[in-house]
Amino acid sequence: MVRALALASASCIGLSLAQPANRPAPPPPDSYEGHLAAAKQAAGFDFTGTLARLCVVPSTSFRDGVTAQDRAGWYAEPVKVFDNLYWLGTKIHSSWALTDPRGIIIIDTLFNYAAGPEIVDGMRKMHLDPRNIKYVILSHGHSDHDEGVKLLQDKYGARVVAGGPDWDMMENGPDMPGGKPRRDIVAADGQTITVGGNAVTILTTPGHTPGTLSLIFAVRDHGKPMVVAYSGGTSNIPLVHNPAGLAQFIDSQRKLGKAAAESGASIVMANHSEFDGAYTKVRLLAARKAGEPHPYDVGTDGVQRYFKMTDECAQATRMKALGQASLSP
Ligand SMILES: [Zn+2]
Repeated sequence: MVRALALASASCIGLSLAQPANRPAPPPPDSYEGHLAAAKQAAGFDFTGTLARLCVVPSTSFRDGVTAQDRAGWYAEPVKVFDNLYWLGTKIHSSWALTDPRGIIIIDTLFNYAAGPEIVDGMRKMHLDPRNIKYVILSHGHSDHDEGVKLLQDKYGARVVAGGPDWDMMENGPDMPGGKPRRDIVAADGQTITVGGNAVTILTTPGHTPGTLSLIFAVRDHGKPMVVAYSGGTSNIPLVHNPAGLAQFIDSQRKLGKAAAESGASIVMANHSEFDGAYTKVRLLAARKAGEPHPYDVGTDGVQRYFKMTDECAQATRMKALGQASLSP
């Protein structure tokens, strides 16, 4: 008993010595600082690029003046990432080809200047025939993801899937380099696009745009099945002055996070290679040895931390939009 008391006493002393006397009190959870801290905690070291762009140094990745002539600045080689998934992105944005011998689904289409070199030529480099494209799914109607679609619709007869409000945006918006696509399939929540053995489940996740689509689909890593949660509208930056839009964005993050959990997703993908690390991750595959984990595999808990991060980031941004932030980053 005496010994037990002595040990308890020593550990109390040790504990009190380990506590810095001037450690600041943690911020209230429902404050700008509290949500930012929660976002950082959720991101850990897995999602630093997205955390930085959405939450710490809010900014978009639009770069005025980038053109086809700046190819050295944006061009990236295509990479086979899974047995049935190829990356066809630039250093800034991602496009993906989900493949099956019976046809190909393209997800997002880059700026017009990159669609030919990255998607069409990239497929050929990967020994994929663009004439086998059956569907193109547009996550949303912003120029960095939708400008390449007209080429694939006109030249290869691809069916095009987009959210209804984003079809309206494309139709009613300014001219698009490469031309506007003809309205085709209006995505419904829960709809599945199937080609051969690939099935892509579509979730409507408004926020980034009114018609943003996110996706759940399966890939195979040397035969091992894995599930991808594809976030169609990553950034809350277009909503920094729009609390209602941010609330909608937050709902969509929770909806997609829940669907990811239910499907057992251990991979999260988005369409800005610049801040989700796609450009780096796909190149890491070249150094991957047998038995090593896939660079995209963050585990089911990692996927949930991702959506916790985007949720908390958006809540922090909403605090600022409502004028309740006491500190600006
Ligand atoms: Zn966008």
